[in-house]
Amino acid sequence: EAPPNAGDPLILPPGIDSQTFKSFTQRLADIVGQSNVTIISTDKELHQESYLDPSKAHDMFYVLEKQYFVSSAVVAPRDVADVQAIMRLCNEFEIPVWPFSIGRNVGYGGAGPRVPGSLGMDMGRHMNKILNVDVDGAYALVEPGVTFFDLHDYLVKNNLRDKLWIDVPDLGGGSVLGNTCERGVGYTPYGDHYMMHCGMEVVLPDGSLVRTGMGALPDPEADPNLPPHEQKPNKCWQLFNYGFGPYNDGIFTQSSLGVITKMGIWLMTNPGGYQSYLITMPRDEDLHQAIEIIRPLRVGMVLQNVPTLRHVLLDAAVMGDKSTYSDSKAPLTDTEIDAIAHKLNLGRWNFYGALYGPEPVRAVMWQVVKTAFGQIPGAKFYFPEDMPDNKVLQIRDGTLQGIPSVDELRWVDWLPNGGHLFFSPIAKVSGDDAVAQYKLTRRRSEEFGFDFIGTFVVGMREMHHIVCIVYDRRDADMRRRAHKLISTLVDDAAKQGWGEYRTHLALMDQIAATYSFNDHAQMKLNEKIKNALDPKGILAPGKNGVWPQTYDKVAWRV
Ligand code: ADP
Repeated sequence: EAPPNAGDPLILPPGIDSQTFKSFTQRLADIVGQSNVTIISTDKELHQESYLDPSKAHDMFYVLEKQYFVSSAVVAPRDVADVQAIMRLCNEFEIPVWPFSIGRNVGYGGAGPRVPGSLGMDMGRHMNKILNVDVDGAYALVEPGVTFFDLHDYLVKNNLRDKLWIDVPDLGGGSVLGNTCERGVGYTPYGDHYMMHCGMEVVLPDGSLVRTGMGALPDPEADPNLPPHEQKPNKCWQLFNYGFGPYNDGIFTQSSLGVITKMGIWLMTNPGGYQSYLITMPRDEDLHQAIEIIRPLRVGMVLQNVPTLRHVLLDAAVMGDKSTYSDSKAPLTDTEIDAIAHKLNLGRWNFYGALYGPEPVRAVMWQVVKTAFGQIPGAKFYFPEDMPDNKVLQIRDGTLQGIPSVDELRWVDWLPNGGHLFFSPIAKVSGDDAVAQYKLTRRRSEEFGFDFIGTFVVGMREMHHIVCIVYDRRDADMRRRAHKLISTLVDDAAKQGWGEYRTHLALMDQIAATYSFNDHAQMKLNEKIKNALDPKGILAPGKNGVWPQTYDKVAWRV
């Protein structure tokens, strides 16, 4: 093998030689300045392994080889004009570019690109301003790098939290914009982030700029002499999602059709009172009845937020690693799991919810909830003050009122050098479906040597069933088993008519292929749009299984 040329990255972009790469990165530096271009040339630059210090160049929770989902270089645009110039340059050189906001998309690929050697585009390093918080309209307009912590801190520092709350996912270090465009969820009444977004500004693959919804209508006070991205936006941009004509926002989510540079997000008005709670259910079989109780309450909005029904091992993993509970290397047995539940004073299933509103409203709601769950023999009811040592209940108390944290992170340390994948099928809110998904995912997990660690996240009419596959990153055999497990589950699920809402880079092709109604009609549509907007296929090729015409999608399968 020829020795690498000085200045070469670990992985060159596909079809690009050293010399071309050098000219490309010089041109990049001309746009953004040398300090905003980092070439990923040694394994040392892939040292980051922790959510708290996330890598901008690879998937830290690698399931394939560590050096597979790795960027050749990372560029950090300073503003929208830089993003536009970068898109034009990538078209000129035909080099793939993979945008991310913070790169904390853990369990789904982090900052890693689908095509090794892509240019990573770090949208969050400089473009991290909260552009507007409108108290009366209860919304914010943010740039890509604004994290849930940033937005929450802003409300606290400006004494606005008595008026406005945000919604946060389990971990608050990711970006509001990145999480929303991946259709991530949180746990307050505003838990469906995409539902609560309003208005986007997007750079298309050819470098042109659009504002969606009401943003397409110029504000009469906007200065036409400013570049479009700096022009004052329409005053209804963050108030009405749909504008006029075809509604475009959806095609920019989980997609490779644009780089989002601004996004509006609705904030929740402070409900005037709050009480989180935990309901424990003692038996594994209680899952069926619990879900049957949850459905009418949730769709009827007595359950006001996105509550979760968590398997005891998820809570156990937040409170200690596997070795603190057992010497066993094998999946824990029912007897062992019961012992853990007993030790932690938890049920086999644990329901975390919250009541929102002034005291009399909460009291009425609580009576309804208690009566309903009280039908389950042995169900117990707790408020956070009843269980000061229950770390999970204390964390959920914050999360369900939109206070960000990173404490849930602990469960990834269930095993040493813990990395994780999420298997995330959508489920009907029915006892039969929940039990069937639980049985299947638990049986398969154990067959491949893993504990079942999972939670049902209850949306309005469906559940995101999140199965956390925790593996030891340093153990190549375990990584292979984890990959085989999730891949087996995808096929198993598709046979039952279950599909995933989001996935890791390594599974995107497989899952996209399961959404195959009428001879893959939806994929054909997606490919048509992709090729029309991005004829050279430079933006995030392969993202969510959509490959541009310039790539042989079979050859890129992993
Ligand atoms: P987080 O903000 O949670 O750390 P990431 O920044 O890792 O999330 O983004 C997750 C994924 O969302 C990225 O891999 C990319 O596909 C998409 N994404 C993130 N930000 C943007 C953006 N500004 N424009 C287009 N796609 C984006």
